[in-house]
Amino acid sequence: MSRDVVVRVAAKRSPLVDKTGEILSRTIRERYGLEVQPAKADSAAIVLDIRPGIGAEGFCIEDGPAGQVRVVGNDDRGLLYGVGKLLRTSRLDPERMTPGTWRGTSVPKTPVRGMYFASHFHNFYHDAPIADVQRYVEELALWGCNALSVWFDMHHFRGLADPAAQEMLHRLREILKTAKAVGIGPALTSLANEGYADSPEHLRADWTAGHDGYHHEPGGHYHVEVCPNKPGGLEYILRVRQEMLEAFADLGIEYVWMWPYDQGGCTCSQCTPWGAKGFLECCRPYAELIRRIMPQAKRVLSTWYFDHFIDGEWQGLDLAIGKTQPDFAEYLMADDYGDRFPEYPIQHGVPGGLPMINFPEISMYNMWPWGGYGANPLPGHIQRIWDSAGSHLAGGFPYSEGIFEDLNKAVCFQHYWSGRDAMDTVREYLAYEGSPDAVDEAAKAVEIMEAQHDHSPRAIDGQGPELHAKLFPAGGRMEVPMFNLPDLSRASECLGLIRAAESKLTPRARQGWRWRILSIRAEIDALFHQYGGRAGEDTERLFDELADIYHARSAECSVCPPSRKALWRRQG
Ligand SMILES: [Zn+2]
Repeated sequence: MSRDVVVRVAAKRSPLVDKTGEILSRTIRERYGLEVQPAKADSAAIVLDIRPGIGAEGFCIEDGPAGQVRVVGNDDRGLLYGVGKLLRTSRLDPERMTPGTWRGTSVPKTPVRGMYFASHFHNFYHDAPIADVQRYVEELALWGCNALSVWFDMHHFRGLADPAAQEMLHRLREILKTAKAVGIGPALTSLANEGYADSPEHLRADWTAGHDGYHHEPGGHYHVEVCPNKPGGLEYILRVRQEMLEAFADLGIEYVWMWPYDQGGCTCSQCTPWGAKGFLECCRPYAELIRRIMPQAKRVLSTWYFDHFIDGEWQGLDLAIGKTQPDFAEYLMADDYGDRFPEYPIQHGVPGGLPMINFPEISMYNMWPWGGYGANPLPGHIQRIWDSAGSHLAGGFPYSEGIFEDLNKAVCFQHYWSGRDAMDTVREYLAYEGSPDAVDEAAKAVEIMEAQHDHSPRAIDGQGPELHAKLFPAGGRMEVPMFNLPDLSRASECLGLIRAAESKLTPRARQGWRWRILSIRAEIDALFHQYGGRAGEDTERLFDELADIYHARSAECSVCPPSRKALWRRQG
């Protein structure tokens, strides 16, 4: 192939087809150092086309004449996903692009291949330059992502007119506009009984336990949520819900979630059990509002944390809805934090016979700060939960706190696409972000990282100058171990594998942030193992690099790499 890559766009032009061509050109330029030239006739190396009949959002990659590769989408989105597949299976050699050898037809099995961005705690989505977030959204689309949900979390604000609320609204709208332009359906998360920071105190929900069947207080309750059974409560809820919906109504929102707990809920006698009573008393009129303001949007009834604080919510929901599809929801969302998928809908069927989507936790599992040590690959964990529930699902929205779990996102997108084995996705990811030549070593390193996953900072006794001396020993390593760590006896083997893989990468690939966060994780673990979890200038430098990659210099501790400086700032 010549130095420049010749591409012919045979598909009828549309904003998404143009965007797809732009992303292909940009990726080839940035990763290969090559320019893309448009072709007039059949001299093109790569042809992009659309041919309905392949299957919704699917694509073919096939051979054309004279070594040509044809990427054919069933529709505009399918063409984009085909380009993603072509890029991931191509070879990245300096100044040469060898288009991928994968040929065949691929059609997604599930319709909802989403992602949820938590935009708080000054994490990447909250604080990174908006252009970086927008670029990231475009790159997720290449994996088949077709929905992105955000939450306008009202408890931070004193009404929609609050300047801070307007600032967040603007940022979320910019993220969703970018998503829409790249074929990702914009979506909204919301609590069923959400309230602003200044919600009237006499309308507020109960969150206490020890009565009406509640054996635990609902976790994460903000205490500004509103009880729908207090006089005026439901009116408040629907008024602020309507304002919120109207603020996003022009974006073509494709899904709106109605959320029960963490945050949200009311434990009062009239709302109990929340998931089967008060929650539904909010959702029914809220769903009608959504239908009126966003007639195209699918309404998602979430069951997050049902039966954690009170028993019988799943069963109660089943009884309340019955076996026929309710008129206030098109999807039911189910999942849990930890190692299991909820048993009820697997054993008894989904209430209302609704299509079920999941909400896998890919960010926070057994590591704190989240992403604080670099990448947190969890292919085995995600695969085990998928194996228990995947055949019951119509897709889902993983929960994301940042970019450090980028590899986990790819695993989920490919589960939704085809049920593809997680390690198979990991290998394709590593070939694309590293090199096809480095996959064997890098995949072994990822497996070791997962086997040595659990990390958290350890509380350190002392305060004032005494603590400072421990945290900043003169020119040396900390006096005390700073971290609770797993058995890291394979950490140096892991680092050796990453270094062997790195030796096969181009300098450009080696410097890419996705590779750096894998490499940093391996290096931090090896240093922790060598020095018994005590931090030093070497770990400090790596934490700083992570903070720069995540734009986490102002982040709260849950999403900030745990450098001594960051710890001192928090404890001092
Ligand atoms: Zn209540």
